[in-house]
Amino acid sequence: MEREKIKSIIEAKKDSVIELWEKLVNIDSGTYDIEGVNKVASVFEEKLKSLGCETKIYKFENAGNTLIATLNPDAKDEPILFIGHMDTVFSSQDSKERPFKIEEGKAYGPGVLDMKAGDVIAVFTLEVLKEIGYNKRPIKIIFSGDEELAHINSTGDEVIYKEAIGAKAALNFETGRVDEGIVVGRMGTRGYDVNIEGVSAHSGNNPDLGRSAILEAAKKIVELEGLNDIPRGKLVNCGLVNGGVSNNTIPGNCTIGILTRYVSQEIGDEINREVEEILNQTFVEGTKTTFVATKGIPSMERTPGVIELYDLVENVAVELGFPKPHPVEVGGGSDSAFTVSAGIPTVCAMGAKGEFNHTDREYAVVDSMFERIELAANTVLAID
Ligand SMILES: [Zn+2]
Repeated sequence: MEREKIKSIIEAKKDSVIELWEKLVNIDSGTYDIEGVNKVASVFEEKLKSLGCETKIYKFENAGNTLIATLNPDAKDEPILFIGHMDTVFSSQDSKERPFKIEEGKAYGPGVLDMKAGDVIAVFTLEVLKEIGYNKRPIKIIFSGDEELAHINSTGDEVIYKEAIGAKAALNFETGRVDEGIVVGRMGTRGYDVNIEGVSAHSGNNPDLGRSAILEAAKKIVELEGLNDIPRGKLVNCGLVNGGVSNNTIPGNCTIGILTRYVSQEIGDEINREVEEILNQTFVEGTKTTFVATKGIPSMERTPGVIELYDLVENVAVELGFPKPHPVEVGGGSDSAFTVSAGIPTVCAMGAKGEFNHTDREYAVVDSMFERIELAANTVLAID
């Protein structure tokens, strides 16, 4: 009964879904375009207020707003979270050059898939739930404004964590996958900016006085790369190296950019400790190494709660006659890391299906918008 009703409500809303999606894709909201992100936030806030949600805005000095909107704020049971982000990786001009368009069932435009599609799915799922009279639990939307930079210039991550505490479950509407995978695990990351000071000298006249910063870097890199254990999900990449002034000068300076990735906090603690041990060792006497660890993201761990929620989503998808999903773990991070860290069972990549996010070839399958609204609304009903 309820399922039929949901189907017909979505059917009647198809044009409004596309209309809101088009409007949002055509507002550029790259992470650095704070004004653009905030404009997107106010479009969503207005829409969600009109649906009767209680809303709250977190402002940050150097990043776009985080929007919180809650339907049924007074319902007694634990809330269900709908997670999204309003920023994209694109510039402030992209939508002028390639505005939203639909061709042969695929939608194009900056951030069309990652993740304006998912945000629109979240909002319309909430609207559908309201229209069928769902009032068992609060539905809380958390849309951040700087996910693509992992909240390095804000405390957006802490806001997600704090707002998530005590929730029953979270659906993250990140980029959906064309292979029907639903994401149940993501690697955590941490970056290191390393600076090595040596002693520069003329390599012919004073070779004895020189202390090569590049040699020190090379010896460290061999050790660091040796920490890689791909089957265990323990990764380190020395991806940036810069040093020296000429081939006849013993180099007095070298920098290394490092990123670690890990499937669990335990492996994260292990690899980050080992990286720091190597960085603190001196291989070429007379060189000095300093480093700063950049703010990373925790791993989204495949907890028993995550798997239980995934199983429920899979059952609902099959019952609705959609292609059977499968659980996947991926290397890239998302805000799901913060909800899982807060102890909330979370499934990720519940957004529209498509490919090539972060490029101008990005597209989203239009019909998957409606499929995913139906899947999310019925998933909420199936959570007891
Ligand atoms: Zn995203």
